[in-house]
Amino acid sequence: MINVTRAFLPDYEEFCREIRDMWDSHWLTNMGEKHQALERALEAFFRVPHVTLFTNGHLALETALQALNLPRGGEVITTPFTFVSTTHAIVRNGLVPVFGDIKPEDYTLDPEKVRALITDKTVAILPVHVYGRLCDVEAFEALAREYNLKLIYDAAHAFGVEKEGVSSASFGDISMFSFHATKVYHTIEGGALSFREDSLVQLVNDLKNFGIRNAEEVAYVGGNAKMSEFQAAMGLCNLRHVREQIAARGRVVEHYNSRLGNRSGLVIPGPQPGITPNYAYYPVVFDGFKKDRNQVFSELKDQGIIPRKYFYPLTNGISCYRDLPSAGEEKTPLAAHVAQRVLCLPLYGELAPQDVDRICDTVLA
Ligand SMILES: *Cc1c(COP(=O)(O)O)cnc(C)c1O
Repeated sequence: MINVTRAFLPDYEEFCREIRDMWDSHWLTNMGEKHQALERALEAFFRVPHVTLFTNGHLALETALQALNLPRGGEVITTPFTFVSTTHAIVRNGLVPVFGDIKPEDYTLDPEKVRALITDKTVAILPVHVYGRLCDVEAFEALAREYNLKLIYDAAHAFGVEKEGVSSASFGDISMFSFHATKVYHTIEGGALSFREDSLVQLVNDLKNFGIRNAEEVAYVGGNAKMSEFQAAMGLCNLRHVREQIAARGRVVEHYNSRLGNRSGLVIPGPQPGITPNYAYYPVVFDGFKKDRNQVFSELKDQGIIPRKYFYPLTNGISCYRDLPSAGEEKTPLAAHVAQRVLCLPLYGELAPQDVDRICDTVLA
């Protein structure tokens, strides 16, 4: 069986060496040595002033919105072409999601569609670097400045992506990364926020630890979203291998491109100029192909190959948001078009060339 992805694991011995100290210290969580070491290592990797770790990406994103202290009921303009987490984080903060359409070339939120949705209730923009495709960060920066809006990126897919040498962690007020086992870089479960603003460090660190400032002062209504030492140890190991893993993914993508590229009815979004990719996903849009997406999906499944329909359904079409005034997939026709037709094929560093061939043979048959 071949799944859409397979979590990378370091050598068993490497992980054992990394956790060995814990049997002496008995320090298992609450911002211990591994946690601190991983934060500093990621700040160096991203070349950003501040990284703070979380037990998962979703709680990191919820905390980012809480830390920016957006007024309840405020509107946050976002994309429906994403994992439900993005929209849930907005709603669970008492904010209202407003959905803008995507750009046809890279499926990221279209800044011009966002501009048209800005009202006096808008408080923030929350774009997603979907599939690791970087958003138009300059346009969003300009919009946020012009309308005095907060800008938060869901960078869950964008670990290791750079624009002319500048990390995807550098844009907006805050960026959120997911380190879930299915992502390019993982800490089993995990996530992080990256940002430049010094005053956010203490606040974000307090918010992920029940709002506790010190032993006698609880300053905020915080949650518990701390990353444990075991997760951080996995992160320290995986960080040593992530560049070679991204390179290996790149070779798999080249192989896919050589088999599936330039075929009528198969749309494969190309590389973005000036951007160093991370090969997080391999989306194929079946648009006028001899078979539709669902047929290819079931043919692959019959072969024990499990692709995913990321991102179908759109979050503005799912049942829990059906009653929102801003819901409705028909309001974002480009996103609806792609969601109906896209399939993410299996992609991970160790995916064997003969497996890629078998997947492509089935797609093309
Ligand atoms: C994975 C993901 C998240 C949530 O991250 P978790 O670490 O699984 O909580 C949020 N947004 C997007 C786009 C994701 O793919």
